[in-house]
Amino acid sequence: MGGYIDLHIHTTVSDGTLSPSEVVRHAKEKGLKAIAITDHDTVEGNREALEEGKKVGLDVLTGVEISVGCPYGTMHLLGYCIDIDSSFLKERLEFLQKVRSERNLKILDKLKGLGIGIDFSDVLQMAGGEQVGRPHFAKAMLKKGYANTNQDAFDRFLKKGAPAYVDRFRFEPQEAIGIILKCGGIPVLAHPFTLGDLKPKELEDFVVELISLGLKGIEVFYPEHTDRQIAGYRYLAEKHGILITGGSDFHGYGKPNVDIGIYNGNKDISLSVIETMKKMQEEGKRN
Ligand code: AMP
Ligand code: ZN
Ligand code: FE
Ligand code: FE
Repeated sequence: MGGYIDLHIHTTVSDGTLSPSEVVRHAKEKGLKAIAITDHDTVEGNREALEEGKKVGLDVLTGVEISVGCPYGTMHLLGYCIDIDSSFLKERLEFLQKVRSERNLKILDKLKGLGIGIDFSDVLQMAGGEQVGRPHFAKAMLKKGYANTNQDAFDRFLKKGAPAYVDRFRFEPQEAIGIILKCGGIPVLAHPFTLGDLKPKELEDFVVELISLGLKGIEVFYPEHTDRQIAGYRYLAEKHGILITGGSDFHGYGKPNVDIGIYNGNKDISLSVIETMKKMQEEGKRN
């Protein structure tokens, strides 16, 4: 059975612009059948989304997106069907929040050194009291006239390699995958194109290594994936017998041309992946 699902969505709890309930209602209006909330390093939005999902009749999976250190470009790991009440998960995510807070202060210092007169309270205001990330710095800079657009703030100051960029601690693949598994979840490699321009063999070896650590799927469908990349990632997932997932990485209306449920191949992805994930989660509980 075909259906519309979107397994990669951010809310105001991290750096999206819609609250978890707004996301759920928006997805329902768009005719989606199932979604997952995947905020960066936090599961705080999941409860509200689950409750709203029940109210409006939309299947909501729990989720999270964790940044991972790896020998290639940018690696993000999605975790689905996680136990959001796990105290172990809570502790690990709180640790990441601490890492983020320390980093934010360093970014602020660097910006000050560059003559950018924003205060942390400006940034906090943009984050609406929730987790602070670079997009909130960008918004504060925009508001105070230090940048013309969000992208301009990233390009001139915040992106990797730019003068106010600050690196932060990331879990290694083994630890990140282990965290998701330990709280009953399904670890999936997010948007593999951000790993960079790997040779097919290099990518396959890396995916095989991740599978040996417990990886259970690849986010094959993603707005920025080309048809060629989709074919390649799909081939890898099928060859190694892991799940094919997809999502929009919706962040609300900050990113133009991205909406819930819109990503290359959103009609190709089968609703059955949801059933498979739920089954995997149940089996995990019994083991
Ligand atoms: P952070 O979690 O603070 O590292 O911020 C990550 C978020 O910043 C991502 O989810 C994107 O929304 C945004 N971002 C990261 N790199 C860029 C970039 N080069 N250009 C625009 N936005 C970016
Ligand atoms: Zn984000
Ligand atoms: Fe990501
Ligand atoms: Fe994301």
